[in-house]
Amino acid sequence: MGKALIIGAGGVAGVAIHKCCQYSEVFDEIMIASRTKAKCDAFAQELAGKTRTRIRTAKVDANNVQELIALIEEFKPDVVLNLALPYQDLTIMDACLATKTHYVDTANYEPEDTAKFEYSWQWAYRERFKEAGICAVLGSGFDPGVTGVFSAYALKHQFDEINYIDILDCNGGDHGYPFATNFNPEINIREVTANGSYWEDGHWVETAPMEIKREYDFKGVGKKDMYLLHHEELESLGINIPGIKRIRFFMTFGQSYLTHLQCLQNVGMTSIEPIDFEGKQIVPLQFLKAVLPDPASLGPRTVGKTNIGCIFQGKKDGKDKTYYLYNICDHQECYREVGSQAISYTTGVPAMIGAALVMTGKWCKPGVYNVEEFDPDPFMDLLNRFGLPWEEDFNPTLVD
Ligand code: NDP
Repeated sequence: MGKALIIGAGGVAGVAIHKCCQYSEVFDEIMIASRTKAKCDAFAQELAGKTRTRIRTAKVDANNVQELIALIEEFKPDVVLNLALPYQDLTIMDACLATKTHYVDTANYEPEDTAKFEYSWQWAYRERFKEAGICAVLGSGFDPGVTGVFSAYALKHQFDEINYIDILDCNGGDHGYPFATNFNPEINIREVTANGSYWEDGHWVETAPMEIKREYDFKGVGKKDMYLLHHEELESLGINIPGIKRIRFFMTFGQSYLTHLQCLQNVGMTSIEPIDFEGKQIVPLQFLKAVLPDPASLGPRTVGKTNIGCIFQGKKDGKDKTYYLYNICDHQECYREVGSQAISYTTGVPAMIGAALVMTGKWCKPGVYNVEEFDPDPFMDLLNRFGLPWEEDFNPTLVD
């Protein structure tokens, strides 16, 4: 069918690469290109002889638009799947525009020197992508990603109107370290140390970090404390789901994680302000990332399950209705299948699906879109087929 250029060779990219190789009827050929070429070559070696998908590798600095353009012009992919960091979203979109190539990512743009993520920067490309006749699919991971697809599916099949969405992200996994993050530590810590917020009656309500706490009994995991966070899909769902009154996002954290984080914050290790250290400028959070375990190395040690999904409340045929759509994913099963823990898995699978739907034309229209703006059905089918089967509950416990 076609070719995909995958940028990045970290935890999420590793899963997406395995999944592309399981879907060779769509992915004839992939190129893995990242800052450290040895990581790309390691994936190519691991998969050699196990897939019909041809694999090439390259070194690229995704901050450099000219390098990206040269690589895209040489490989001529149908789609670029951006699995590097949110800092590179705009340079990669610029290169896609210059080469008229479709674009998919899993996280919205964030400037490196400000811990602030929002869609405005990428939505500003809408007209230019339309004029170029190319499609950008933003946020095709799990959250954002599957949570948006779940919302579109619930609206299409279960509700006439959705009024409330609670997104619950539970990681019941245990990696045995007192403190480690399940995806890129820098991005993860920037996200959880920011103020929380939720969308209500057309405006944002801001909270202090971790101010709102609830306990929830998750199927497959058990009771966990979860905390309200700001999360990027709240911004697009607030616009794209008509009739919405409130959307909140909760994520579970264990006490050890929170205690360590509080301490690191108190001593200034989570700061992104550069400091002088032995005559050199360093960013404390980037130094912290260097001493923490690499998320890609957590796979063999992580046991337990994740349960991520959305509880919807709204109306169907004039009656109140509640509906919970979720996926349970087992860390060790992911590891046995693709050598990764479930956080990378639950992101890498939907990333591959987003790219596949663009390549097959099922999700391909000129412009810049969030996942909930497309037909959810083919995505939901591929989730079942590629390892993230979803479950439904028509009488869920609600979050107060
Ligand atoms: P990792 O840090 O494991 O991987 C990032 C990769 O990007 C690394 O291989 C890194 O190279 C590469 N990279 C970084 N900068 C550049 C650059 N300038 N040029 C080329 N390559 C570069 O991160 P994850 O795999 O954990 O996360 C990947 C993305 O997925 C992030 O954007 C993250 O926010 C997103 N994510 C989304 C989720 C969702 O549900 N939507 C959930 C989890 C993550 P090197 O190997 O040299 O360091």
